[in-house]
Amino acid sequence: MKKIVIALLGVGVLFSIGWFIIFPNSHPLSSSALTPSPPKTRVVCLQPFADLDTATLEEVKNAIQQYYGFEVRSLPAIPLPDQARTTNIAGLKLYNPSPERYRADSLLRYLKRKKPEICHNCIGLTTKDISSTKKLNGKIKEPAWMYTDWGIFGLGFQPGPTAVLSTYRLARDTRDLVKIKARLRKIAMHELGHNLGLPHCPNPTCFMRDALESILTIDAAPEALCENCRNAIPDAWFAKN
Ligand SMILES: [Zn+2]
Ligand SMILES: [Zn+2]
Repeated sequence: MKKIVIALLGVGVLFSIGWFIIFPNSHPLSSSALTPSPPKTRVVCLQPFADLDTATLEEVKNAIQQYYGFEVRSLPAIPLPDQARTTNIAGLKLYNPSPERYRADSLLRYLKRKKPEICHNCIGLTTKDISSTKKLNGKIKEPAWMYTDWGIFGLGFQPGPTAVLSTYRLARDTRDLVKIKARLRKIAMHELGHNLGLPHCPNPTCFMRDALESILTIDAAPEALCENCRNAIPDAWFAKN
């Protein structure tokens, strides 16, 4: 009798193992072990340069967390890299006798080299003016003296791991803090949108719209993506741990 019980138990165990091998997902004990773990939340790091204030950093952090639902981490401030500084400041000298301006494309590459591995994206933030070369059909836009080193609000790889934004041009025509903060949030979300692969969008009710060289375009944009742009971002990137 004892032998029969042991034999039956043995058959039961073998049957369970066979079931597990043939139907791993339907085995009740295997479900938690074999279901793939959900994708990790995307981590966006903010890299303040030198004299950036904490209020600006917090504003951008909250905006990205609330709108995109990503995890946002602030990194300790670092100096702006000397090699990104530009002396090509023809237009800017009219307003400021000793302008300080940095090439946004150099900053993107610098951040890409420096960013901690945990950061899927890294956004640099600076109070200094940043610039890039504006091209049209593959050539520098005319007049070239102005567009070779054109001051901008922000720049981001599309797609790619890094972006940069500057607060330098946000308060030129206003002292309204509510307006300035809204500009800051929209530019941060726009540049991160480029990082996620989104191109400029023709829809005026979308923050991926091209600023078209005017802060007024940014003022007119909502703090939201249009449906097309939102649907272009993989849902998995929004999954929580
Ligand atoms: Zn853009
Ligand atoms: Zn759009």
